[in-house]
Amino acid sequence: MGGVARNPRDEALATGTLAGLPNAHFIDGAWVAPSAGRMMDSVDPGNGKVFARFASGDAADIDKAVASARKAFAGEWRRMVPAGRGRILAQAAALLRAQAERFAVAETLDSGKRLLEARGDVAGAARAFEYYAGACDKMQGDSIPLGPDYLAYTTLEPVGVAAQIVPWNYPISTLARGVAPALAVGNCVVAKPAEQTPMTALMLAELLHAAGLPAGVFNVVTGTGKDAGAPLVAHPDINHITFTGSVATGQSVMRAAAANVTRLVLELGGKSPLVVLDDADLDAAVDGVLGGIYENAGQICSAASRLIVDRRVHAAMLERLVARVAKMRLGHGLGDADMGPLISPEQRNRVAGFVDRARARGVSVACGGHAAADPETGLGWFYEPTILDALKPDDEAVTEEIFGPVLAVQIADDADHAVALANFTRYALVAGVYTSDFARAHRLAAAIDAGQVYINEYFAGGIETPFGGNRHSGFGREKGLEALRSYAKLKSVAARIG
Ligand code: NAD
Repeated sequence: MGGVARNPRDEALATGTLAGLPNAHFIDGAWVAPSAGRMMDSVDPGNGKVFARFASGDAADIDKAVASARKAFAGEWRRMVPAGRGRILAQAAALLRAQAERFAVAETLDSGKRLLEARGDVAGAARAFEYYAGACDKMQGDSIPLGPDYLAYTTLEPVGVAAQIVPWNYPISTLARGVAPALAVGNCVVAKPAEQTPMTALMLAELLHAAGLPAGVFNVVTGTGKDAGAPLVAHPDINHITFTGSVATGQSVMRAAAANVTRLVLELGGKSPLVVLDDADLDAAVDGVLGGIYENAGQICSAASRLIVDRRVHAAMLERLVARVAKMRLGHGLGDADMGPLISPEQRNRVAGFVDRARARGVSVACGGHAAADPETGLGWFYEPTILDALKPDDEAVTEEIFGPVLAVQIADDADHAVALANFTRYALVAGVYTSDFARAHRLAAAIDAGQVYINEYFAGGIETPFGGNRHSGFGREKGLEALRSYAKLKSVAARIG
């Protein structure tokens, strides 16, 4: 190609990677080599090949990053007028849009997800910066009426240094939805992306500084949960933790936070129900189910992993779903397939284990149910889109998060039964309801325990709509204006003036 600039997708298709990907931590506004000199491989799940190396961080790197964030919190960032923070976040959104394709291709290489979806994630991340850019100068308190002899008011202050622990399934969008409100309130951040998908967090750090963020305000340390994540959440100079990941790790993060009484938002797993009542528009419901469970090969905390369908429309729904699934093509994320790979061989084995055990129990496997490969190369960690039919409420395919392209179908006798089934698992992240009766829709929205309910369009809403879970799905809310509260300390001041 002799010096001719290629677009990022063509470059990745031709070379299997992108030139110039970051391979160090980003601390105090600069690239910093790992203290112990150790590196890790980044693997493309679509073909199992190493496409980049990155720094394997440890407690010494975390100490540096937290110290840099603490210093920055006391500096220029703290003195900047709120509208100045807003201008930087707006500029970050603009730069992210300008570089969107490179970010999306890096995300596809790292996570395996389809480029179409990665583009959507990057656009969503840009929206997060744009949305919270407008919030910086609107963090207003209240005045409190105590009568003529007193003046009382509240102020909202940044909490200080906020840690972000990010999972591998939505790397850039999960990070952006945490970092943008944290910065909008005036905090500094240390982020630890998942070891499977570190690239876009590092690229974002560089971009934020190009947008004008002072050095040290946003730092990224890459590496494993054990070596880099654990020392970050246990660090006494961290004032807030946003953890997105599995329940078991969330519980250990909560224990670490307890030692320092650190504020905490936990975004954990889910086993979210999509309820289809007998009067639903079945075509819309089929679209909702397919997008809800097969996007990102089902590796979505808020996946529609359970279809709870009224007995009267069960056969019709299943027939339509199976017909649509039969047409789905698997393939590398950079191609034009309908579904990409799973993140790792371990994850694929885990998914296969659930399906194999279900089959052995005599569960009906309506379609799919086997490991697969990219039909073009024979490589990659794919699994067929799968439907398990007519499951009992206590079946492990219903109660456990599979985190793969496996839909668990449950049959309900009526709307009340559907609610009882929906609320039966220990998770309560999101839920979907499909019905043409709006009164019923809102009665179900009230009766189902979930942080977010989608009516007649699964995943309806965006950065504006608060998101988070109840029970084992965690606590605290991200997105929307609600997210700003996590990153602010409210102070009330009362003065005698008369
Ligand atoms: P995970 O818990 O294994 O890892 C998540 C992150 O935590 C990674 O960055 C990892 O390195 C880090 N980590 C691991 N051990 C740690 C420790 N002891 N201390 C601090 N950090 C540590 O989860 P995963 O397998 O990467 O992600 C899948 C899980 O995440 C699923 O259960 C999914 O439902 C959940 N998830 C939830 C949401 C949500 O918003 N609720 C979003 C995405 C994913």
